[in-house]
Amino acid sequence: MKQRLLEKYESPVPRYTSYPTAPHFQPGVTADTYTGWLAGVDKDETLSLYFHVPFCQEMCWYCGCHTKVVKRYGPITKYAGLLNREIGLTAAALTTDPAVVHVHWGGGTPTMLSADDFSRLMDTVRDHFRFTPTTEVAVEIDPRTLDRDMALALAAAGVNRASLGVQDFNAHVQEAINRIQPFEVTEQAVGWLRDAGIEAINFDLMYGLPGQTTEDVARSVELAHTLAPNRLALFGYAHVPWMKTHQKLIDTDALAGGPERMAQAETATRELIGLGYRAIGLDHFALADDPLSIALDEGSLKRNFQGYTTDEGQTLLGFGVSAIGSLPQGYVQNETGNGAYGRAIEAGTLPIARGIELTDDDRLRRAVIERLMCGLEADLKALAANFGMDETFAPEQAALAEMVGDGLAEIKDGVLRITDEGRPLMRTIAAVFDRYLQTGAGRHSRAV
Ligand code: SF4
Repeated sequence: MKQRLLEKYESPVPRYTSYPTAPHFQPGVTADTYTGWLAGVDKDETLSLYFHVPFCQEMCWYCGCHTKVVKRYGPITKYAGLLNREIGLTAAALTTDPAVVHVHWGGGTPTMLSADDFSRLMDTVRDHFRFTPTTEVAVEIDPRTLDRDMALALAAAGVNRASLGVQDFNAHVQEAINRIQPFEVTEQAVGWLRDAGIEAINFDLMYGLPGQTTEDVARSVELAHTLAPNRLALFGYAHVPWMKTHQKLIDTDALAGGPERMAQAETATRELIGLGYRAIGLDHFALADDPLSIALDEGSLKRNFQGYTTDEGQTLLGFGVSAIGSLPQGYVQNETGNGAYGRAIEAGTLPIARGIELTDDDRLRRAVIERLMCGLEADLKALAANFGMDETFAPEQAALAEMVGDGLAEIKDGVLRITDEGRPLMRTIAAVFDRYLQTGAGRHSRAV
């Protein structure tokens, strides 16, 4: 992308894993609200379940996740017990038995749970929810904390997709982010998972890390490819030390500026495409026969809190500290503090701290933003018609005129399409439809 255009349009914008985004959630949405929404889930709806495990062995300095370092297993045992109760409380609020199509364990590091605790929790989930033969069960894995027994336990508990944190394979970058993970550690973890029968492997890579160069990024992509992951995510490091105070440990002088970050992202993208991966949305890559690629072709690709997904669940139920749920009526978020979360569960209450009830306008704008972020195209007229609204997005189309003039997007017959040149700025283009952004709540990371 031309430097001139990057400088002209790049601004801090949300990643749009939801709309409205989490900073706009309000305390008026409570456990009672959620209980009412759960009672309304139809038996023909499909469910996704997300479980958050907020513990790690040590803190990676770039980390943007909701997690904390624990050195003893005691807090994890206690947390597993709370999750167990939350599963029961949530299932009890449902009045039907919808099929679960997707389960995702994220964190933090879900594999901080012992093999026994993980297996017991999955048994509880299966006791309370109806799985199908095709339910996908995905787990985020820190290769540094995996062993062969855990890989076998994951497979035995039904896990069929593993997402491994890698970020960068170069020692000097790993030192600068406090995540020492030699290539052999990742290689061994992949081997154990595949030997256990978990074939679907995702890697997370990053650019824009301290001290990282374009050559480092290219080398990491090449090494990643030797392990043949089915999917890769390529995230730009988001430096937000006002939200994540441990990021203050990152040497800001070693962080690349906009042009270098762009060169790193473009190099990784070019390499991955040259190696046979397809670009999916903002930051994902997948082999042509991967379900993500197929969903892209079929126009069914979705975006949720885990990024790009084929997950067709209409209702996402979140479990654990800070977990967010998405229901047809709106979003709910659990308490973000371990203490408040635990007290709510022990009192027999769903641990909801905040959320937002969607308006018709929110639903329409969410659909526009999701189509732009997934397929780089939104038929504004057709989407408004689907929602029975006569919204023409005239102010938004006017606001896009300059970007259209600069070749970043096209608008024809009410269809907005992001061009190849505009692709790196898709968040910025989507943000034009964000009615909440103007209120200034929340600070966001840079778009590239
Ligand atoms: S392992 Fe993942 S969640 Fe844990 S500190 Fe590192 S980046 Fe954050």
